[in-house]
Amino acid sequence: MGKIKQLPLHEAQKIAAGEVIERPANIVKELIENAIDAQATQINIYLQDGGKTLIRVVDNGDGMDADDAQHCFAKHATSKIRNFNELETINSFGFRGEALASVAAIARITLITKEAKSNEGIKVIVAENSIKEKTAIGCAAGTDIAITDLFYNVPARKKFLKKEQTEWRHIQQLFQAFCLNYPTIHFKLFSAGKCIINCPATKDLLSRGAQLWDQKTTQHLINIENQQQQSSLKISGFISNHHNFRYDRSMIFFFVNNRWVKNYTLSTALLKGYLNVIPQGRYPTTCIQISINPTDIDINIHPRKEEILFMHPRRVEQLLQQTVKQTLEHNLSNQIKQKVKFAPADHENPMEQRPGFRPFDFDQFFSNKRDITEQINQTTAQKITSAMPLSPPTEIIDTPDQNQKTQVTTKKLLQLSTTEKNYQFIGSYKKTYLLLEKKEGLVFVDQHAAQERILYELFSKRFDEVATINLIFPQIIPLARHDIATVQPHLAIFHKNGILIELFGTDQLIVKATPVHLKDRALDHLIKDVISWINQYQSLEHKEFFKTINEKLQAQMACKAAVKAGDVLTEEQIEQLLLTLDSTPNRFLCPHGRPTSWLLSIDEIEKKFRRRK
Ligand code: ADP
Ligand code: MG
Repeated sequence: MGKIKQLPLHEAQKIAAGEVIERPANIVKELIENAIDAQATQINIYLQDGGKTLIRVVDNGDGMDADDAQHCFAKHATSKIRNFNELETINSFGFRGEALASVAAIARITLITKEAKSNEGIKVIVAENSIKEKTAIGCAAGTDIAITDLFYNVPARKKFLKKEQTEWRHIQQLFQAFCLNYPTIHFKLFSAGKCIINCPATKDLLSRGAQLWDQKTTQHLINIENQQQQSSLKISGFISNHHNFRYDRSMIFFFVNNRWVKNYTLSTALLKGYLNVIPQGRYPTTCIQISINPTDIDINIHPRKEEILFMHPRRVEQLLQQTVKQTLEHNLSNQIKQKVKFAPADHENPMEQRPGFRPFDFDQFFSNKRDITEQINQTTAQKITSAMPLSPPTEIIDTPDQNQKTQVTTKKLLQLSTTEKNYQFIGSYKKTYLLLEKKEGLVFVDQHAAQERILYELFSKRFDEVATINLIFPQIIPLARHDIATVQPHLAIFHKNGILIELFGTDQLIVKATPVHLKDRALDHLIKDVISWINQYQSLEHKEFFKTINEKLQAQMACKAAVKAGDVLTEEQIEQLLLTLDSTPNRFLCPHGRPTSWLLSIDEIEKKFRRRK
């Protein structure tokens, strides 16, 4: 007898449903879309365990009558296509009428719904693909649908569900996307009975951003719109300016013809528009709406329609990149105009299009970034010098292990070695590279990379020698609520590294103590880095996860605490740095893998001058 057997229909349905519904966020998406289709103006989403045990969506939309409330779970049951002529729509929007049927195949559903015109509503309970109970019920107009026990009958799928945190993150991102796409709908997101985000209806997209994110992010958002508006291709929305960036892509949102999409071409073009504006490996916050002729895209390349294909990607790519770049230039030139007095332009420039807009030389600005930035933010330079970790700290500090007050000197902090000095310091080039004469030749030391390595070894291997200090002015760090939810369970990792952070209100963290080396450093970027690593590595097994985050945090702490390129050091500080580097393990590379120093040998020098062959 052959081995092949046909699966019974109900098993086949489970598999098909499992393919469409991989995770709670997929269900949330379908339910919110149904509520939007039903003209709801208020949509509440309630979750338990990141949606693994409960997803409930309550809307004030059209509701269903008693018949529809039972029919809606049947395969291909839809009120959205009426006749064969609309098959075209089926092709462009994917098969209709499958969402509730798919959910019914792999979870338990309780549906309560009522049309505005009816006196009473109906409650329907569905399990194992069939209606278990239906009762008339008094309820508000609209629909309340609750999904419990996801994948209870598909254990293989259930096993693949990720940690609550991961599922929660996916749902939060989806929630933000809906909020941005439909600002006139009032959305609320609840987790474990608590309202996490409340977004009342608004007409203004930027206000929607302000409802979702912290003030630090939203104050740097600027409107974007392509200049020559064409009906076949239009860009609008908002983007963050050069002051604000994130450590992951989670706040880059694209909508094409009102559909939230993830598209590699678009992100690449967007980031090209930000080239030289924000550091590499950092990402903006954006809500970009692209409206394009529907025949110029293919939306059937993804089973859940989350990705799309452009027929002429270069055209979209170029327009996006150019619009982003121009928007940033314009914004920046406006800011600079306010801060720095320009000499009047002495040449005609064809790019000058708007009255009062002086085209700004972007490339030149960024090559001189340090100077201009310092003009704008004069306190930066003061902060850098006052925070020089090489100057002896005078404060009373706590050592984390003994927790007793001790006076600690720089020598102890840096474990100054007793190595004999085997070099002659010649000078410093570009306030960054230290030049030394050694018997082997000329040595160049990158002052930042060198101190980064020294501090990394100290933080990672000899942490008991690191002193911490209670901050007289604790740092308050505003964060988006989803970032707080991500980092809060892991605050102990910071604590282990001498950074005492606590939750402060609902959307801020407070940093109360740090290693002495970081006492004057702003820690918001460090914390955001850690948030992005938590998101990136949370699928790792617990021990490996902790190790990875810990190592990355220590490397970044070393980077933050180390002197920067451009900081002027005293001779004493230079000597300390060089002697300590000499006795530091792994001293030839910084923790990020860049060289700390290199040698121009006497041989090479003599060859250059043809004194030797
Ligand atoms: P589709 O949305 O593609 O039609 P679904 O399986 O998602 O398929 O829903 C089936 C039908 O159930 C919808 O066509 C609609 O008539 C009805 N329905 C589902 N959710 C709601 C809701 N929140 N409010 C009103 N009607 C709904
Ligand atoms: Mg639907």
